[in-house]
Amino acid sequence: MRRLVTTSFTMTITAEETIKSFRVVGELYLIGSLERGVTVYRQQVRAHNLVWALSQIDKDPKRVHEVAVIGGGITGLTAAACILGLFPNARVHLFERSPDLCSLQQGCDTRWLHPRIYDWPARGSRAPSAALPVLDWSEGRASDVAAEILRRFHEYSCRVSHERLQVILGVDHLRITGRDLQVEWVGRRATRDGEFFRQGPAAGESEVFDRIIVATGFGLESYPAQFRTPSYWRNDTLAQPRLDGSVQTYVVSGYGDGALVDLCRLTIERFRQDRILYELFGHNPEPIEEMLGPAAAKALAGENVFDLLRAMEDSVLKGARDELRKRIRKDTRVFLHIRGGGKPGNTSLPDVFGDTSSFANRLLLFLLYRCGAFIPRFDELQSIVDDHSLPSANVICRYGPSAMAHLATVFTDEAAFADRFREMKELRSQSVYLQSAPGVFPDYAKDDDRSE
Ligand SMILES: Cc1cc2nc3c(=O)[nH]c(=O)nc-3n(C[C@H](O)[C@H](O)[C@H](O)COP(=O)(O)OP(=O)(O)OC[C@H]3O[C@@H](n4cnc5c(N)ncnc54)[C@H](O)[C@@H]3O)c2cc1C
Repeated sequence: MRRLVTTSFTMTITAEETIKSFRVVGELYLIGSLERGVTVYRQQVRAHNLVWALSQIDKDPKRVHEVAVIGGGITGLTAAACILGLFPNARVHLFERSPDLCSLQQGCDTRWLHPRIYDWPARGSRAPSAALPVLDWSEGRASDVAAEILRRFHEYSCRVSHERLQVILGVDHLRITGRDLQVEWVGRRATRDGEFFRQGPAAGESEVFDRIIVATGFGLESYPAQFRTPSYWRNDTLAQPRLDGSVQTYVVSGYGDGALVDLCRLTIERFRQDRILYELFGHNPEPIEEMLGPAAAKALAGENVFDLLRAMEDSVLKGARDELRKRIRKDTRVFLHIRGGGKPGNTSLPDVFGDTSSFANRLLLFLLYRCGAFIPRFDELQSIVDDHSLPSANVICRYGPSAMAHLATVFTDEAAFADRFREMKELRSQSVYLQSAPGVFPDYAKDDDRSE
């Protein structure tokens, strides 16, 4: 069956095409790991799209499916809940390495999550609600978002028998043999106890599934051995003023969104990621957003926007720059190490205004530079550290994870899929626009009639 769908946002796309973009081989699917735009919201949209598309092509959705979802982060939870909602007879086996679900963002009070702010200044990008059919949430501290998603996942799991949702936590070992759809693991089968889980004893098992959905994310962030930086999602005090009156020197290495957010936290007084755009551009920023639109569109198309920002700095950006100048932290001195991993590496600041970060963060980087808030460095990280005798706690490396290397740890027959993974990375064709029509997924949050 070919089913054509048109959304208000994007082009027509078929369920088959959607499935193709996720398929590694046969009934083995991979969500997001090799895509660009790795935000929580986009990952959730991808999970919705895959499950919706599978439900469209399944000739008999009532047939019992044994489905393994690998990864109990936000994507895995969304995929699992979507399956429970659309496939009445599917049994979902959810595997998670940590002892609890959604562990990356749980308890993280120092980071802010917003569904679409990385699309700013596109229309609607400041809207606080993700407005997703399954596991919906609104902007907030990452810890609050995680709590909301876990609560909603619980609502979904309450609707189904224990048998239909098997959760295996504390998975110490897990390998997928893709061609046979087999998973072998050492983990602890968990039983639901309200919103929480009781863990059983560790056991080594293996099982063949009808379908495997890999939602293992992007892996943990990498850093040089000598500068071990805690994950972006761990709490820290970088954004807080020093209490002893001293001035501390830091180096932030990297120029993706994670690095640029930490640069802002270290250089802007009273920085709050949720407020900064309003504080710089006013509480009705629409006219400015309109003026920034063409530059943002070029950024989205992968262009370097340094010259475009420079052209606007004495007009559209003047007010924001003057406002920011008042707010440069007095208790920090910050180097931004932007040499990059490539050879020969970056040699000047404009080099990092290309496709490696969101438009909003590139704009903040530009304004901070104009305010003299940081010193760019292009030499070796070690020389900056040595020059200023920096303790390792003051060296923040934000290089992101290596998704390809992470995937290699999950498959026994990874080499067989290497070409497909390279293709997926090149095509990056998993849509970030919701493909299903409204009302397709059951809304358990609104409906109180629980089966358990
Ligand atoms: C530096 C940085 C900054 C970011 N900033 C933002 C931001 O501001 N806004 C935003 O929306 N997003 C941001 N992201 C992306 C965000 O972290 C992800 O989109 C989000 O975590 C959801 O991803 P996920 O569930 O696909 O992967 P994850 O959250 O990584 O979850 C994957 C899960 O799979 C588990 N797992 C992995 N391997 C195995 C295995 N072999 N067996 C069993 N379980 C396994 C892991 O333990 C984990 O729980 C950022 C990411 C990074 C690295």
